[in-house]
Amino acid sequence: MLSWIKFGVVTVLSLAMVLVPVNLPATQPKLEQLAEWKAPPVVRVCYNTPIFKYKVEEALGFWEKLGYKFGTLSYEDNTEWCTGDTYFGAITIMPNREYLGTGTLALTRRHTYNKIITGARIEISNQGFGKELILEHELGHTLGWPHYRIEGHIMHPILPKAGINVFGLKNT
Ligand SMILES: [Zn+2]
Repeated sequence: MLSWIKFGVVTVLSLAMVLVPVNLPATQPKLEQLAEWKAPPVVRVCYNTPIFKYKVEEALGFWEKLGYKFGTLSYEDNTEWCTGDTYFGAITIMPNREYLGTGTLALTRRHTYNKIITGARIEISNQGFGKELILEHELGHTLGWPHYRIEGHIMHPILPKAGINVFGLKNT
């Protein structure tokens, strides 16, 4: 059993980014930050993740410009966040561990306790690597943002319909 479960009731939310609309709710969700970090999270990019460091820095910079802060970036990480099943206190970026489903490019699991985010993991599939905006989009989930189905918005769940519109996302 994972250690953070001892803290109490933990909410686990999984959000997928896809190429085509499958298994997505039809209704337009309200754009509302559902949870947030108490302190800037460390970012761990696992050793087996085929993504350049500058690409990760660019994606973090995307959110930093909106007023979010991150802790140290650990690239080629080989700690238990990458080798085990630890989530706590970090945003971990890794290849998918299980099959994510047809057309699914990436998935973020966000763990929260009350409205505080305790850990998050971004899993990117082979199909997802090298595609623009995926990491920016998934980082949005790790910061507590849900999907927002406005064409051109970074939180749109369908990659071909996503873009760099950041309406409503500024950290105030
Ligand atoms: Zn998503």
